[in-house]
Amino acid sequence: MAYICVILQCDMSDDTGWGKEMTTGTKAGTKTTTTRTECGQCAALCCKNLSVRILRPYTRAEIEDLKWQLHFDTVSIYIRKNRWYQLVEGRCIYLGEDDRCKIYPRRPEMCRRHNPPDCEFFGKFYDVLLETPDQMEAYLAERRKKSRR
Ligand code: SF4
Ligand code: SF4
Repeated sequence: MAYICVILQCDMSDDTGWGKEMTTGTKAGTKTTTTRTECGQCAALCCKNLSVRILRPYTRAEIEDLKWQLHFDTVSIYIRKNRWYQLVEGRCIYLGEDDRCKIYPRRPEMCRRHNPPDCEFFGKFYDVLLETPDQMEAYLAERRKKSRR
């Protein structure tokens, strides 16, 4: 797969633009305002794949179900911060040819929550990427081995 998308496209500056003035919390609980320009330099990576949180598999049946999904070359599974996700290749139907959202003012909440720098534009977004059934078996075997040590 070309890149990892997590979820959809980020918040942007206005109905057409880029580089939103965004307000973020600080450790002290106060607020600070920064200018974000990353999305303007990005080819809307997060609108070109779908990522869905899934439960970590425990039983053999659950593992086999996930392995079955990995028979498809459009599906991967990744693990990030001990959370499991299913990744499906596919471009959002509302992403224009110019890589801008055609429904920006009414884009879903999920799109609004996905923001840089916690996104794929900034590089590797996963701790573990599983693209085939064999990779999943090998990963789980390694986990079992480590847990017995
Ligand atoms: S910079 Fe990140 S959040 Fe913004 S469009 Fe690119 S991938 Fe999405
Ligand atoms: S609705 Fe807009 S922001 Fe959300 S994934 Fe589609 S194109 Fe991206």
